[in-house]
Amino acid sequence: MAAARTVDAVKQLHYLSGALKAPRVIESAQRLADQARDAAWSFEEYLAAVLEREVSARDASGAELRIRAAGFPARKTLEEFDFDAQPAAKNQIAALASTAFLAEARNVVLLGPPGTGKTHLAIALGIAAARHAQRVLFATAVDWTTRLTSAHQAGRLAAELAKLRRYQLLIIDEVGYLPFEQDAANLFFQLVSSRYEHASLILTSNLAFSNWGAVFGDQAVAAAMIDRIVHHADVVTLKGASYRLRNRGIETLPSMLATTNEHN
Ligand code: ADP
Ligand code: MG
Repeated sequence: MAAARTVDAVKQLHYLSGALKAPRVIESAQRLADQARDAAWSFEEYLAAVLEREVSARDASGAELRIRAAGFPARKTLEEFDFDAQPAAKNQIAALASTAFLAEARNVVLLGPPGTGKTHLAIALGIAAARHAQRVLFATAVDWTTRLTSAHQAGRLAAELAKLRRYQLLIIDEVGYLPFEQDAANLFFQLVSSRYEHASLILTSNLAFSNWGAVFGDQAVAAAMIDRIVHHADVVTLKGASYRLRNRGIETLPSMLATTNEHN
């Protein structure tokens, strides 16, 4: 009798979990039912365990979707970052890892020479944000200006900026890698302004702020932009030699080495 009732209930569970769009419920309901019977769980404990599985699976797949949608060039995490190479940045990054800066619309600026982990940390903070249910988009400064330029040319810059404001975090990698044309610099300025005190940016650059004037072709534009960026920001300065070249027994880049050798 009881067995027949169980078979009916399982059939009904198939239907109900489908109707709830919670297909994992059917799997965990059956698996946990055995565990619950063995360990004499209360009905409440059993129901909580089933729902808990569904909620954590949804959170994980949500995070995974947000990570994939973010357009990261690679997957890098804070756990993989070797802080022995950047001891001075450790506490600052550890504080940022909570992603509390997003709720305050604060920015993060990662500065330092090539290979010191700026992009790695920007991605890792982006992944942390995605895991905290935040929407993230990653692109290089050049790609952002391309995107804004085409929106501008199509007469929908305002709509594009409004759409981007729905992302809690935008990551702008490699500011200063290439100088901007004036139009691009202005569009970039509009992006920074539209985020100001509203939503966060993470920027990376291998140039000190004092050299940003050359990137944006105009000291006044650069100064106004830096003002908005750093007003509420954590500036993390990475130091030292490229992590890529560590333990290779070379202190300089190959091209520099070649030049030096010519003199020998
Ligand atoms: P940057 O953007 O500053 O030029 P990247 O973040 O691209 O440097 O780092 C270059 C490579 O070295 C990447 O593969 C990155 O994962 C790795 N890397 C850099 N710094 C560290 C570190 N401290 N710990 C682990 N990997 C690192
Ligand atoms: Mg980089």
